[in-house]
Amino acid sequence: MELDNHAEDLASDLGIDKEEVKADLQNLVEYSVPIDEAKQSLRRKYGDGSSGGSSAPSSKEIAEITPEDSNVTVTGVVLTTGKRSIRYQGDDHVIVEGRLADETGTIDYTAWEDFGLSAGDTITAGNASVREWDGEPELNLGESTSLSFEADSIEVPYETGGDAQLADLQTGDRAVNVEVAVVDCERRTIDGRDGETEILSGVFGDESGRLPFTNWDPAPEIEAGSTVRIENAYVQEFRGVPEVNVSEFSTVTALERAVDVGVETTTMDISAAVHTGGIYDVEVTGNVLAVREGSGLIQRCPECYRVIQKGQCRTHGDVDGIDDLRVKAILDDGTGAVTVVLDDELTEQVYDGTLEDALEQAREAMDQEVVADTIREHIVGREYRVRGHLSVDEYGANLDAESFEERTDDPTVRASAFLEEVHS
Ligand SMILES: [Zn+2]
Repeated sequence: MELDNHAEDLASDLGIDKEEVKADLQNLVEYSVPIDEAKQSLRRKYGDGSSGGSSAPSSKEIAEITPEDSNVTVTGVVLTTGKRSIRYQGDDHVIVEGRLADETGTIDYTAWEDFGLSAGDTITAGNASVREWDGEPELNLGESTSLSFEADSIEVPYETGGDAQLADLQTGDRAVNVEVAVVDCERRTIDGRDGETEILSGVFGDESGRLPFTNWDPAPEIEAGSTVRIENAYVQEFRGVPEVNVSEFSTVTALERAVDVGVETTTMDISAAVHTGGIYDVEVTGNVLAVREGSGLIQRCPECYRVIQKGQCRTHGDVDGIDDLRVKAILDDGTGAVTVVLDDELTEQVYDGTLEDALEQAREAMDQEVVADTIREHIVGREYRVRGHLSVDEYGANLDAESFEERTDDPTVRASAFLEEVHS
């Protein structure tokens, strides 16, 4: 929040002139008084009618906390706790994150100091500040928080510990434990923030599904075909889908037991899939309404591999493009629409020809658009079952297809089967 907004908040709370409050606030902030403390002291100075002049944050039940609260005192049970390293204002900080619960609900917290929290502890956090993340309140436990461990634990209707199944994980989840099979694993060298570094990336699977992962500090237990238990992983979005992050603070142990990787892909309506905000390995069925521009025979920049127009890359200028095939098709199932992206192999299938065939067709017609036209004739108006990875951004929803199969069952057969079902 800007100083201006804080001043406006205060002014309307206290019923005084905004410019006056702002000048005071500016003064305090210039003396390095944290904004929350500055606001508290101004509330004392001008007398906060609503709270009877008391400056102590009110004790609240978790369900009552809203993003509008600035500071609260809360008692609850630590459900999960996990360390993570983040870069904040140019420095690396180790923070502790997790979830706190009482009888009324749960709330995520971030501790900027190591208070020594363990799952199962009952704590009272005095003067915890509240911030908003994705529309939900979160607790910040920092220097000005007084944290005490309660001798009497409270009962909560939630499980402690972060054991989870892959299908339940969502972007933003912290301190999670999973037991998975390593479906796919590759070692890569990346240009990290501290120079070149080796990482592992691939795909984890369990009974519930599959998710991509990155292991930032390669653990020897993680290799293709192994099964492992991972504690204190976190989930972050990468290319629009949730990804399991295994960090230097995670614990990786080899599992004796086998983990069955569910073969069932999540099948969803397009609108439900889009509403998840991004999902790895999903299946939708719909009709191809159109083949978008930039489909068929295309050229890519040899440097960055992005699609180029008329030999011009937006970053690398005049380049000698590499020929490639792809399709961007609009798939609609009545509930919503996505752009399905087919790679070169799937495009060869729907085109019913190779890249060489496409180049020859384009040469003969002296127009490379004919390739997209042929693909249009083959797929528009037909129904497909598509499996792949869905990402959603401000430009729309893209489904990166792994398989693209026409629903060939005769519609009249399907209709009569449906009628039988209805009448039986
Ligand atoms: Zn380029």
